[in-house]
Amino acid sequence: MKRSTILRTAAVTATTALAGTALVACGSGSSSEGMLAAIEAGEVTVGTKYDQPGLGLHNPDGSMSGLDVDVAEYVVNSIAEENGWDAPTITWRETPSAQRETLIQNGEVDLIAATYSINKGRSESVNFGGPYLVTHQALLVREDENEITDLESLDGKILCSVTGSTPAQKVKDALPGVQLQEYDTYSSCVEALRQGNIDAMTTDATILLGYSAQAPGQFKVIEMEQDGEPFTDEYYGIGLAKDDQEATDAINDALTKLHESGEFDTLLDKNLGGDEAVSPGTPGDLSFIE
Ligand code: GLU
Repeated sequence: MKRSTILRTAAVTATTALAGTALVACGSGSSSEGMLAAIEAGEVTVGTKYDQPGLGLHNPDGSMSGLDVDVAEYVVNSIAEENGWDAPTITWRETPSAQRETLIQNGEVDLIAATYSINKGRSESVNFGGPYLVTHQALLVREDENEITDLESLDGKILCSVTGSTPAQKVKDALPGVQLQEYDTYSSCVEALRQGNIDAMTTDATILLGYSAQAPGQFKVIEMEQDGEPFTDEYYGIGLAKDDQEATDAINDALTKLHESGEFDTLLDKNLGGDEAVSPGTPGDLSFIE
């Protein structure tokens, strides 16, 4: 049965200044001794997205904002506090979808919080703390679009997603009739959609709701379902060096505290307006990986 649902657009807090966070354009990287050693040394390099409002955004004034930014800060500071270390200086580093595993493996970042779905393939190269959030793949179309209403109606349409992302791969596998164009970033997909060069873009509902909220009246978000179920489940994790189990456990403890204290709901509300396309994950439970 075909079913389409328009998701409510979330209110996105435009700019949130980060207190106590240093922004440095180019990080030097510091993870050769592991994430915990970097936090103890007082300088940690955190990877996130720079162009995803409500999740990871590098603002014109140089500050960072978004749920992933806040979650990463919470985790790093809570690990420092737990160990009796000073809160470290965070150097932010942009980590586009296709580069995340490589940047971790090269030691250019100590951890990544960047709408980063945990899956089997990625788990062979990096460790994941989390999941701290679960969302689903969805579609973004122009407000006046009336032909694209669900997964099936994408056939023959031009769809945009990002290289190295799970949604791009899932669409290729499930819908060979779709003309998929892969860009480096979601913001370039949004621009192509605005210009009319593509018909729709696909990625996580969280990300699409952020773009939709940023440009009121221009776009709408459509859920993707298959056999009455969400087309995908995207479990967001915090990526770090492969086999660094001590740091992974520390991240999971911090994420559990984030959820149990109620702080996660506060951050969700602040950044994504209490986004209904999101549910909290269970940190440390990776049983969903096939
Ligand atoms: N969560 C998906 C992924 O990790 C899509 C979002 C992204 O590309 O960052 O691939």
